[in-house]
Amino acid sequence: MTTTHRPLVAGNWKMNGLRKDLEEIATIRDAVKAAGPIEVVVCPPFTLLAAAAVLCEGSGVGLGGQDCHTESKGAFTGDIAPPMLKDAGAAYVILGHSERRLFHGESNALIHDKVKAAQAGGLIPILCVGETEDQRKQGQALAVVGQQLQGSIPQDAQIDSLVIAYEPVWAIGTGLTPTAEDVAEMHGFIRTHLSERWPDKAAGVRLLYGGSVKPGNAGKLLAIANVDGALVGGASLIAADFLAIANACPTG
Ligand code: PEP
Repeated sequence: MTTTHRPLVAGNWKMNGLRKDLEEIATIRDAVKAAGPIEVVVCPPFTLLAAAAVLCEGSGVGLGGQDCHTESKGAFTGDIAPPMLKDAGAAYVILGHSERRLFHGESNALIHDKVKAAQAGGLIPILCVGETEDQRKQGQALAVVGQQLQGSIPQDAQIDSLVIAYEPVWAIGTGLTPTAEDVAEMHGFIRTHLSERWPDKAAGVRLLYGGSVKPGNAGKLLAIANVDGALVGGASLIAADFLAIANACPTG
C-alpha cells in the first residue's frame, strides 16, 4: 500500500448465502470496530441485504450489492435498481465482475451506464477489471484492462466515489495468483490511467486486488504498491478467514 486512504476489504458472496448464513455477517460485525483502520464491506446476495443491514446497523461493517440495472425503476423483470440497493442498506455495488461479463455478456458500454446509474443512485461502484489467461499469455493484459477502464468509467464519473478492483479472470476461484511484480505493474498502470484522466483525484481512488486472496497470501498481496485493499470471493464466506484477510491489511 502506498496511498494514504483507508484500505477497503470487501467480500463478494456471489450466489451463496441463506438466512442461516447471516451468522457469519454477525461474527464479522462483532469483530470489526466502527471507524477502525480498515473499511470492511460485505456484498451478500440481494435476498440477504435488508436483513444484513439490520444486523450491521451502527457497526463498522458496510454492505454492497453485486450488480445493478442502468435504470432506477421499470419493467425489467429480475433486475435490481440502484435506489433499491440503497434502500435495502447498501453503500456499494460491485459492477463489471468477470462473471457478469462472461455469463451475462456485459460489455464495457453497459458497465459504463451502470457506473453512472449507481453513482446517481448514491452508491459507490466497485468496478472490476481484469484479463483472461489467454490475454495475459499473449501479452495483452495491460491493453485489455486499459480498454475496460476507458470504456467503463464515464469521463464525468464522481471519481472520488469509485473503487476499482483488479481481478485477473484466471485467478478468480482457482487458487492461482499473479506474481507481486505483475500485480504492482497492473496497479501502477491503473493509477497512471486514472491520473491521465483525473489528475487531481486519481491518487485518492482505492485500487483493490481480487483473485484467490486467502489468509495465507493476503499479507503479501496487500503490501504491494498501489494495492489499497482486496475484493474477496470464496474466503469471504467464512468469517474467520475474511477477518484474517482484513487484519492482514497494512494500515500505515
Ligand atoms: C471474486 O469473485 O471477486 C473473487 C475474487 O473470487 P475468489 O476470491 O474466490 O477468487
